[in-house]
Amino acid sequence: MNALAATSRNFRHSARILGLDSKVEKSLLIPFREIKVECTIPRDDGTLASYIGFRVQHDNARGPMKGGIRYHPEVDPDEVNALAQLMTWKSAVADIPYGGAKGGIGCNPGDLSTSELERLTRVFTQKIHDLIGVHTDVPAPDMGTNAQTMAWILDEYSKFHGHSPAVVTGKPIDLGGSLGREAATGRGVVFAAEALLAEHGKSIKGLTFAIQGFGNVGSWAAKLIHERGGKVIAVSDISGAIKNPNGIDIPELIRHKATAGSLKNFQGADSMDANELLVHECDVLIPCALGGVLNRENAADVKAKFIIEAANHPTDPDADEILAKKGVVVLPDIYANSGGVTVSYFEWVQNIQGFMWDEEQVNKTLKNYMTRAFHNIKGMCQTHDCNLRMGAFTLGVSRVARATLLRGWEA
Ligand code: GLU
Repeated sequence: MNALAATSRNFRHSARILGLDSKVEKSLLIPFREIKVECTIPRDDGTLASYIGFRVQHDNARGPMKGGIRYHPEVDPDEVNALAQLMTWKSAVADIPYGGAKGGIGCNPGDLSTSELERLTRVFTQKIHDLIGVHTDVPAPDMGTNAQTMAWILDEYSKFHGHSPAVVTGKPIDLGGSLGREAATGRGVVFAAEALLAEHGKSIKGLTFAIQGFGNVGSWAAKLIHERGGKVIAVSDISGAIKNPNGIDIPELIRHKATAGSLKNFQGADSMDANELLVHECDVLIPCALGGVLNRENAADVKAKFIIEAANHPTDPDADEILAKKGVVVLPDIYANSGGVTVSYFEWVQNIQGFMWDEEQVNKTLKNYMTRAFHNIKGMCQTHDCNLRMGAFTLGVSRVARATLLRGWEA
C-alpha cells in the first residue's frame, strides 16, 4: 500500500475513534503547502544534471512546521506528503510545540561527490529559503542527509536572511548543534523499547533483537541495546544481512562499518538473506530503514513478539491487522522514533536561548519526554480501547485538532 494511502487510513481511523468533526478531519488531511522545485547542478565532469526537490508543509496549528529532508532515489510527492503528515502527529505525541513537514530530493546520494551534494543542497535551499524559517518551517536530517547537509542549508539560508542557527536542527556542534542530537533517534528508540518492555514485565537485558538498517538510527539503537545487555542476533544494511545466534559484537561491527563502509565481510557473524531478517526468530524486531517493509506478503511469518518502529511507517495497515491477530505488539513510529525530533526541539530552544546544555541534560530530558509520551499513549489506549498505534494517533490528532479549533476558522 502506498505510504500516503496507509498514513491517511490510520489518520481516518483515529478521526472515527475520536468522533472528529468532518470539517476538521478534512482540513487536517490536506497539507498546508506543497512545494516542488527543479534543482539543476553542474556535475564534476561538466555535464548538467537535474533533480526534483520537494517540501511538504503539513500543518502549523501547534507551532512551526518541523521535519527532515531526505535524499533518496525513491523520494516522491506522495511519500513526502505522508511523512510530513506523520511529523505533525509525531510532534504532537511528543508534546513539543511544532507542526509537521518533510522534504526530499529524488537522487542517489551515494552516486554524488561531496561537492555535487553541496551544490545540490545549496540550489535546493535557494529555491525554498523564503518558505522555511526559525518560526515557520525548520528542516533537519533524514535518510541520506546529515549534519554537513544542515551546515550547507544554514550557510545558504544565512546569505539571504542573516545568521540564523535555529533555521535547521541536527547541525554540527560547532555551528550550534546540540550535544546528543546525533544519537537521539536511536536513544529514543531504546527509551521507548524500555517503556514498552517494562509494561510487559521485561527488560532489554537477555532479550534477542533483529535490527533492519545500520545507518545513524540502527547503529545507535544497536550500540545502546548491546550496552544494556540485549543480544543483537541479526543486523542488515544495504549490502545484505548478518546473523549470530550468540549475539553480534556491536562495537566491533561499528568499527568494521567505519572502515569497510558496510557490514560485508564482517568476521563475527554469518551472512543471511536480507528479507529473512524481518522474519528471523527473535524477541524484538526493530525496522530502521525504509517504509512499507512489513506488509501482507511477510507479516504472517514474523516471529518477533515486539516490533519497535524506528523507521517511518515500516508497517502497512494490512500487516498491522495480521500482526495484531498473531498477538505481536507494535510500538508505532510516531512515538518510537520521536527522539530525533524531540532533541531537535531541544537544539532549537538552545539556539533561541543562546545557551548550550550538557549532554547529560539532553539525554535526561529526552528520557522524561519519551516516558511521559508512553504513558499518555497508554491513557488513550485505555480510554478508547485501542492498540498502541491508534493510542498514539488519537493522542497526536486530538492535540492538533484542539489547537486548530482554538485558533478558529475565520479568514
Ligand atoms: N527526520 C527525523 C524524523 O523523521 C527528524 C526530524 C526533525 O528532527 O525535525 O523524525
